[in-house]
Amino acid sequence: MKVAILGGGITGVTLARLLDRQEVDWTLYEADDRLGGLCRSETVDGFVADRAGGHIIFSKNKEVLDFILGAVAEAGTHQSQRKSAIWYHGNYVQYPFENGLGDLPKEDNFQCLTSYIEAEFARRMGAPQPRNFRDWCLWRFGEGIATKFMFPYNEKIWKTDLAEMSTQWVAGRVPDAPVADVIRSSVGIRTEGYKHQAIFWYPLEGGFETIVKGIAAPLAAERLRTSTPIRSLRRLQSGYEVNGERFDRVVSTIPLPELGKVVTDAPDEVAAAFATLPFTSVASILVALDRPEECDRSWIYFPHPENGPFNRVTHISNYSPRNAPPDKSALMAEVTYKGEIDADEACRETVAGLVRCGFAREEEVLFTRLWRNKYAYIVYTRDLEEKLATVKTWLAEQGIDILGRFGNYDYFNSDQCVKAAMDFAAAFAESGRS
Ligand SMILES: Cc1cc2nc3c(=O)[nH]c(=O)nc-3n(C[C@H](O)[C@H](O)[C@H](O)COP(=O)(O)OP(=O)(O)OC[C@H]3O[C@@H](n4cnc5c(N)ncnc54)[C@H](O)[C@@H]3O)c2cc1C
Repeated sequence: MKVAILGGGITGVTLARLLDRQEVDWTLYEADDRLGGLCRSETVDGFVADRAGGHIIFSKNKEVLDFILGAVAEAGTHQSQRKSAIWYHGNYVQYPFENGLGDLPKEDNFQCLTSYIEAEFARRMGAPQPRNFRDWCLWRFGEGIATKFMFPYNEKIWKTDLAEMSTQWVAGRVPDAPVADVIRSSVGIRTEGYKHQAIFWYPLEGGFETIVKGIAAPLAAERLRTSTPIRSLRRLQSGYEVNGERFDRVVSTIPLPELGKVVTDAPDEVAAAFATLPFTSVASILVALDRPEECDRSWIYFPHPENGPFNRVTHISNYSPRNAPPDKSALMAEVTYKGEIDADEACRETVAGLVRCGFAREEEVLFTRLWRNKYAYIVYTRDLEEKLATVKTWLAEQGIDILGRFGNYDYFNSDQCVKAAMDFAAAFAESGRS
C-alpha cells in the first residue's frame, strides 16, 4: 500500500516515522525547503529563536513525552521550572490571573474576588452557561477578572469580537481554578494553576526544531520531499493522484484552507467552507540583547495594548544556556495579526513596548528579526463548528484522512499532534492496510 503524507510539520513527520516502523511504502510532501512547520527554529548570530513563538516540551501523556524526549536524547535537553507571569500595570501578577489576585493592587484584588464569588454563587443558583465567549467570561470569572484580564488579553490575541466567539475551546485551555484557591490567592496564600506545565524541557541545541530533526533522523531522505508543495489532489476510481502520482491512501496534515485549494471536485458549499475557516496569524519577533539574562522567568503575558503589540514575551535565553552567545540574552515577542503585518513597524513597536515596560534598554538591542506564521491560532467563531462539519463530512466521503493542528482544525500543542499521529498509526496497523 502506498501512502501519501501531506505536510512535514511534527504531525506529518511523526506519522512518517511510525508508518516507517510498520514498513509502509510512504512519501511525505512538504512545501517549505525544510521540515518542522510551526516547530521550526532559526539561529541568527548565535541567537536561537523559535519561528512561531517560544515553544516548550511538556505533555500529560507519558508515552508521548518519552517519544519527544527520545527524539532529542542525543542533542540533550535543558529542564526548567515554569515561571510565567502577567504584566499588570507595571507589576508582575502570578499566572493564571485568578491564582495571582494577591499580587494585584488591593482595590483591584477586592473587585476581582467579590465578583468571582458573585459569579460562583450565580452559577450555583443555576445561571445558564452562555454560548458566546464574552458572556462566558463574565459568567465564569465575574466582572473583575473579565474586564481586568480576560477581555483585554483575549481581544489582543484573537483580534476578534469576543461575543462572536464560541466557548467550544475553553475546556483545558482556560484555567479553571476552584473558588477556594482563588480566595487563598486573594489573601496571599500561594496556589498553583496549570500544574502539568510546572516543569518543562527544551532542546539544548538548535531550538524546538531539534525535536522534528530527531524524529526524522532515521528516515530515508528521498521519501521526505521538501520544497514540494501539493498542487493537486484528485480522487481516482481506486486510490488518489497527488501531484500526478498514484497513491492508495492520503493523510493530510496541511492546513485545511490549503487543502481546500488543491482538492478537485468539491461542491461549491464545501469549497466556500474550506476558504472561510477562521484563523489568526502570529509574528515571532526576536530581540537580541547585549547583556546577560537578568531574571529566571520563562514567559510573561501582556494583556494591555498600552504595553505594546505583543501578547506574550518569552525569555528564550533561559530555555537553554545555548540559546544566546556568552554574556548575551534574548527576548521573543509574539504579535498576532489578521492579513498582513508590517515587519519594521512591529519590530519598532515591540522594542518601544519592551523599553517602556523596563524589559530592555534601547542601547542594549543588538538587532531584531521577525518571522511570520500564517496559520497560528484557530479562531473559534460561532459558525466554525458548522463549517468544519461541512468540510470534514466531505473529506470523509472522499476517504481522505486529516490530522494535526490545522490539518484537523484542533487546538493542539505539538504533544497532542504526536499523540494523534500515534493513534492514527495504531489504527492503520490494525485495519488500514486492507
Ligand atoms: C504561538 C504558538 C506557540 C506554541 N507553543 C507551543 C509549545 O510551547 N509547545 C508545544 O508543544 N506546542 C506549541 N504550539 C503548537 C505547535 O506549534 C503545533 O501544535 C504544531 O507545530 C503543529 O504541527 P502540525 O504538523 O500539525 O502543523 P504545521 O506545523 O502547521 O505543519 C503543516 C505543514 O504543512 C506544510 N504545508 C502547507 N501547505 C502545504 C502544501 N500545499 N503542500 C505541502 N505542504 C504544505 C507547511 O509548510 C507545514 O510544514 C504553539 C503554537 C503557536 C502558534
